[in-house]
Amino acid sequence: MQAGWGGRWQRLDAALCLPLCVTVALMGALCIEVLCLLLWAAEPTQLPLALHLPLLLFLLANVLGNMGLFVTTSPSIKGVMLSESAVGQGWEYCYTCQSHVPPRCLHCYTCNVCMLRRDHHCVLLGQCVGYHNYRYFLCLLLHGWVALLYASLLNADIFMDLLHEGVTLHSIVLLLMPWLMLLTGQVNTLTFIYAFMADTCVVSFLFCSGFLFLHVLLSLRGQTTREWFGKSRCYDLGWRRNLQEALGDRWHLVWLCPLLASPLPGNGLAFESRALRTEPSTKAVIF
Ligand SMILES: [Zn+2]
Ligand SMILES: [Zn+2]
Repeated sequence: MQAGWGGRWQRLDAALCLPLCVTVALMGALCIEVLCLLLWAAEPTQLPLALHLPLLLFLLANVLGNMGLFVTTSPSIKGVMLSESAVGQGWEYCYTCQSHVPPRCLHCYTCNVCMLRRDHHCVLLGQCVGYHNYRYFLCLLLHGWVALLYASLLNADIFMDLLHEGVTLHSIVLLLMPWLMLLTGQVNTLTFIYAFMADTCVVSFLFCSGFLFLHVLLSLRGQTTREWFGKSRCYDLGWRRNLQEALGDRWHLVWLCPLLASPLPGNGLAFESRALRTEPSTKAVIF
């Protein structure tokens, strides 16, 4: 059971908001830079602006929508009906939360609460990735990856301009440490901004590519990051069922729109496994 909107926004305390604000600020700067490139680039791109804008709006709406829903959908056990009668194999006791917790549920020491089917804590967005928000996390990675690929291709001309004198020490330091070049007066502010944004695009794209590849693989194998490290595949039900368990009944459509309804087949408390079949309970007590 997901928390209501009131409960969702309570999660946005100051400490967890800081990384989110930095991420949003970088995203905003990147969007402005891409728009500037499209509108005022010296050499216009092959595609007309009328084709770029719908693509940009689609990506932006999906990135912002999935990010908003990811951050405000907590997979924590707060407000979740935990069944005492279901406590059995796979359940553990969390001394910090002082509660029995279901299989695959882990305590997050940043959020200070146990998370259902916890994957990891996303430092960039200040939220845990778990049972209720995995769909938004994966779609955010997918659309973020496409957007960063797009921005990196648009920035390719800037890279070429920065390297117009060939691969020299000056150009290498400019690309690797643009701040240093600005502070030592080697480049002007405009060159620094171009180098910084081009760097941000490429580094973010490589970072996003690695995460997307890993999480697509984990989704197909029905694993969390911790289970992957532990080489456990006991919840692997085949790629189609695994995607349904992680992304919901309409797993093949969720990438189109974050608001598209795709109910999860389970409740995050019991998971079907290859070795053991468990049934979701009906008797409940409130945590
Ligand atoms: Zn706990
Ligand atoms: Zn967390």
